[in-house]
Amino acid sequence: MGIDPSFPSAWRADAEQAVSEWNSIAGKRLRFVLVSPEFADITFSVAYLGGAYGQAEFPANGEPGHRVRIDPSIPTSLRKLVFVHELGHCFGFRHTNLYVNGEGAGTVGGNVITETPREDANSVMNSGSSPNQSQGWRGFSKYDVTGFQNLYPIFMSPGMYAPGTLMKIVARSTGQALTVEGNSYATDARIIQHPYNGTGNDQWLLQDAGNGYHKIISRNTGYALTVQYDSYTPGGQLIQHPYNGTGNDQWEIQEAGLGYYKIRARNSRQCVNVYNNSSSVGAPIIQYPYDGNANEQWYITFAQ
Ligand SMILES: [Zn+2]
Repeated sequence: MGIDPSFPSAWRADAEQAVSEWNSIAGKRLRFVLVSPEFADITFSVAYLGGAYGQAEFPANGEPGHRVRIDPSIPTSLRKLVFVHELGHCFGFRHTNLYVNGEGAGTVGGNVITETPREDANSVMNSGSSPNQSQGWRGFSKYDVTGFQNLYPIFMSPGMYAPGTLMKIVARSTGQALTVEGNSYATDARIIQHPYNGTGNDQWLLQDAGNGYHKIISRNTGYALTVQYDSYTPGGQLIQHPYNGTGNDQWEIQEAGLGYYKIRARNSRQCVNVYNNSSSVGAPIIQYPYDGNANEQWYITFAQ
């Protein structure tokens, strides 16, 4: 981040705070430092915008939006919120209320981020015309935080996680998490999908099992995600079971695009799958040959 010499010195503290607010979100990959503007990826400057208080650029070609421009007419009470908001555009956020506004996807896209709702009245990324935005900075909403974490997850690739770090594993199709049914401590208890609640039966340790495979270990029980009966049949149920390294409890975690992963059993070469593409809470998790559907693509990120 940089601050152009044109930027009024009275605004500087708010710009620095805006950068700090984004940095304060835990469990995300991006981190920002303030540097001289000639070295910055994103620069604050002042500009006459003809009606808007702020304007930013979206990312392109693998780089963030490079400019945040602020109109001299911005009220003091709105500075910090607008600075935070415009930086959000540079990281790739559209307006949370873009569909309410009728802005549409446009040329840059308008995707709902996994685990976040389509609308969120408390989001800092609502447009300036949104009622709550007139109140100035009130902090990030819960879903602003989730959205930022999920857009820039720390879990980037197998092996990049810190050992001992608890992860949640969330289905792209439903936003529900890989969970031990009934918080059971029984050997062979089924794995289901369930909304994440952080009770430990939906938190997992990913451990090295050698040869590029992982063990996926339940926090509560210490048991491993396992294909029941070492089945090679599509639809074979996934269970928890004491780890024994026989290949039906070893998993290859492969990129599936857009930050999602497929999770493939070593023995059967089939992938972790929400049964019948169900959206029901409690639907069983099975193995199935991978065919690129969202019920076999998983978001893997910090359990918090
Ligand atoms: Zn905006």
